[in-house]
Amino acid sequence: MTLHIHTPLIESRPLSLAAGATVRLKLDALQPCGSFKLRGVGHACEIHHGRGARHFVSSSGGNAGLAVAYAGRTLGVPVTVVVPETTTERAKQLLRLEDAKVVVHGSSWQEANELALTLVGAEDAFIHPFDDPLLWAGHASLVDEVAAAGFKPDAVVLSVGGGGLLSGVVQGLQRNGWDDVPVLAVETRGAASLHAAMQAGHTVELPGIASVASSLGAKRVAEQALACTRAHPVHSHVVSDRAALQACERFLLDHRLLVEPACGAALALAYDEQTLASYSRVLVVVCGGATATLEQIQAWLKQAH
Ligand SMILES: *Cc1c(COP(=O)(O)O)cnc(C)c1O
Repeated sequence: MTLHIHTPLIESRPLSLAAGATVRLKLDALQPCGSFKLRGVGHACEIHHGRGARHFVSSSGGNAGLAVAYAGRTLGVPVTVVVPETTTERAKQLLRLEDAKVVVHGSSWQEANELALTLVGAEDAFIHPFDDPLLWAGHASLVDEVAAAGFKPDAVVLSVGGGGLLSGVVQGLQRNGWDDVPVLAVETRGAASLHAAMQAGHTVELPGIASVASSLGAKRVAEQALACTRAHPVHSHVVSDRAALQACERFLLDHRLLVEPACGAALALAYDEQTLASYSRVLVVVCGGATATLEQIQAWLKQAH
């Protein structure tokens, strides 16, 4: 038994027609807490629980925090999530629905994270949102499920924030002998910390995040994410907020699933008929995201460039 579920792998007719390739969707938006994060976070929480952890601490007001809250409730372990003042009411509400204790502190994630770290006692476990080998090992299960279904893609499209999903998917591709399958790693302009690292040849800290895709808003990617781009074919793509938001709207019509702009970034690449022209069997990781509403996406779209 795992905390995450095996998600459907379906062919998308609308995306296949748009991309001129067979496009299959790995629907991790259907994980019980709304995103792929439960794969890695659930795995990490189970390991810490097995080692006797009495309390989980997270500093993510987004999908990572929700996954920790879900895992803790399911395992019977109390959870504290420290979030900055900028966190939306909706995100806090979702955390409380999972019985997490929500502490609001500081004007940025850095400050919330600092307080969170001071709350981690000797018998507690701190769960990082993207930079932990336990997370990557858990995220890799996504590729195992695709391999078990007998679908070998010739490209994988996914979104990149701090690079945990990328690190896990690359690990999954390699452990299934798919070293030759390239990953198209998509970020939004204003949150493109992997793109910046690949250009510089080392990880760099962005001065700030200027994108509505808050789940991609890691100012610096994990070292492991950059290492993946050296060990595996990874192509970096950057899309506009506008393209990501439009992809969210279009995907809602096409597949009746509401996802965050963070996920819309990967979908935007798949909806673009140019980019996938050289591939014939494409896997799109529908990473999901629970914190956006349709009203918010429409309001952002009115202002987006
Ligand atoms: C966390 C998250 C991402 C980015 O994942 P990383 O592991 O930080 O790269 C993308 N989309 C959604 C919906 C997320 O919650």
